[in-house]
Amino acid sequence: MNSFSLDALPVTTLPGVGKQRERVLAEAGIRTVLDLLHYFPRRYLDRSTIVAIPELHRHAGTVVTVIGRVQRTAIIASKRKRFIVTLFDGKGTMEVVFFQGLHYWEKAFRVDETIAVSGEVQFFGRRASMVHPDIDRLQDGETLEFINTGGIIPVYPSSAELEKVGLNRHGGFRRLIREALHRHLDDVQDCFTSGLMHNEGLIPLRDALEYIHTPKDMGSLEHARRRLIFDEFFLLSLQLAFRKRQRKHGDTGIAFTPDSPSARTLVARLPFELTAAQRRVLHEIVSDMQHPRPMNRLLQGDVGSGKTIVALLTMLLAVDNGYQCALMVPTEILAEQHYHSISALVGDLGTRIRLLTGRQSAGERMAGLQAIASGEIDIVVGTHALIQEGVDFDKLGLVIIDEQHRFGVMQRATLRLKGSTPDVLIMTATPIPRTLSMTLYGDLDVSIIDELPAHRKNVRTAIRFEEDRASVEAFVREEIAKGNQAYYVFPLVSESEKLDLKAATEEYERMRTGVYRDLRLSLLHGQMKSEEKENIMLRFKQRELDILVSTTIIEVGVDVPDATVMVIEHAERFGLAQLHQLRGRVGRSDKQSYCIMMTEKRTYFSGTSVVGDVRQVSDQRRRLDTMRATNDGFRIAEVDMQIRGPGDLWGTQQSGFPAFRIANLLEHGEILQHSRRLAFDIVERDPQLRLPEHEGIRAQYGAMLREALSLATIS
Ligand code: ADP
Ligand code: MG
Repeated sequence: MNSFSLDALPVTTLPGVGKQRERVLAEAGIRTVLDLLHYFPRRYLDRSTIVAIPELHRHAGTVVTVIGRVQRTAIIASKRKRFIVTLFDGKGTMEVVFFQGLHYWEKAFRVDETIAVSGEVQFFGRRASMVHPDIDRLQDGETLEFINTGGIIPVYPSSAELEKVGLNRHGGFRRLIREALHRHLDDVQDCFTSGLMHNEGLIPLRDALEYIHTPKDMGSLEHARRRLIFDEFFLLSLQLAFRKRQRKHGDTGIAFTPDSPSARTLVARLPFELTAAQRRVLHEIVSDMQHPRPMNRLLQGDVGSGKTIVALLTMLLAVDNGYQCALMVPTEILAEQHYHSISALVGDLGTRIRLLTGRQSAGERMAGLQAIASGEIDIVVGTHALIQEGVDFDKLGLVIIDEQHRFGVMQRATLRLKGSTPDVLIMTATPIPRTLSMTLYGDLDVSIIDELPAHRKNVRTAIRFEEDRASVEAFVREEIAKGNQAYYVFPLVSESEKLDLKAATEEYERMRTGVYRDLRLSLLHGQMKSEEKENIMLRFKQRELDILVSTTIIEVGVDVPDATVMVIEHAERFGLAQLHQLRGRVGRSDKQSYCIMMTEKRTYFSGTSVVGDVRQVSDQRRRLDTMRATNDGFRIAEVDMQIRGPGDLWGTQQSGFPAFRIANLLEHGEILQHSRRLAFDIVERDPQLRLPEHEGIRAQYGAMLREALSLATIS
């Protein structure tokens, strides 16, 4: 028997797993013994991190574990009602405090039982306490083993369902997994040869599975983790490597002729020189397009780096070759803006451009669809409506997706099916941390515009409080007096969009009739009709308005070079990526621009005293401080990922973001790089996995890769 058949061995072959447990385990994704062995502890209780209660004052503000006996419990009905457990560890006492679920917790503890609590140590006066810590109940035998031998106890993730069938994170899982290890550990086989493991500094999978569940010490646990994380990244990287190879060697696409008279004419007419970075990425894109295999390229460039002109020149090349292009963007405002600015740039070149959005009248839409299908249109600019059923192209040659972070991976796929095999260019302004782009876009080629147009100045960024409002207003007036324009942006975040809109509208009225009554203001929000929005944007762009008061619909892509001030109201409510995008609306010319983040002093400074909201409060402040400290989009993206976690950053559900069991993009970037290099190298050298040293990989992953990627080559 080997680990491949362990994958065929149902968990029901283990003692103690009957029908009921089988069902509940299956819901948690555990069907086979191999699944069970890959159900990893959430964390460990380690003697070395256990602190005696009298020593806790040395650890204030950090997370530690305390083991003790429940001495007494009580509900305290003071200012803030709470439930308190007093814990005694033989040397001193501390309090475990619960503010929520009092009645649940009241029933959860028995006096005299032994528990381990892990959490942040806080002091109220001289009394040590933890608020809502993680709690582990220790069985008698275990407590002794733990205390006496200094063992490390794994704690498994569990759920109410699992607990009901006795698989709690304490004893239940530990016993079941120990049994599985005992019976089957030596049947686990490795997909890697020992030579390869040696080169990569990996321990065998068998050992890794043993140590992850029953670590001898922290060192063995580290080795186990490294191996299992490596495997997880390796599988993902293999898929990406095969997908990329398949694209390069599979479909034949269009081999465009690189000469484009229209593009040449346009470049000659531009009021500016292309930056070196723009020229470089154009070169990369054009050499892809010349090649018969379909292009799949990601174009990254921070806000304001000039991606639009690159996109347009690329489209003109396709059009001069007799093909149609689709430019897809996330919002209607942006579609309209692109439509107008592209039309203006293209001018009399004769390129036929059409706007297609969901809000157009049925007749207008029908006419558009027909013109697209019959080939009368060269460039279609549109929103998601573009990928809905019914849009057929005559000869689609190039698809450009702007602000890709707003689209899911699925949508990316759908649009590609519309042409035969068009070239695809994906543009994103939100810089993505490297580890994230390696996993999300690992199968694409990447071009980066790493240079802003000459004479751009960093946007000066400040945090201002309500009491500074008058001076902010005075500043805005000064800028407008110099001939510049300003944005005021309000968040749309509360439960009720109506309430938010009301707040924005009221503020707008206050400014329009009060402090700015002599200036030209307009309000822009998502509930307005398209024409109305379009009209307001146009007036702002043509300098017929001084101040645009808006909800966040202007966040993405809007380009008004004379706007030099961005005032963000309730800035603490925005995410970092959003703040960065908003700030990107100014600083789009050679003038000095300013971003003013308005927030309440109380919100910004309330330190750590609001017990329940500590994290939230400090995250808000961290976001604003980061914005003030840097203009570097990549740096901002890194912090954003730290605050929100990689999955969240991307909106896990609709984006096809890979779910990892044990790997973490924040912490394991270095392992990711190693396993990625190995996977790409193997696929490059041995795409059919025929070499003897790849037999294990083929045996373990072959079937899955064949199925997932419909690879005929791995048979
Ligand atoms: P983004 O990359 O954020 O989409 P845009 O393509 O909207 O940026 O360009 C931002 C502004 O910079 C536009 O007004 C554009 O005309 C201008 N621009 C683009 N390239 C250059 C350049 N090489 N020199 C000066 N201005 C440029
Ligand atoms: Mg743009």
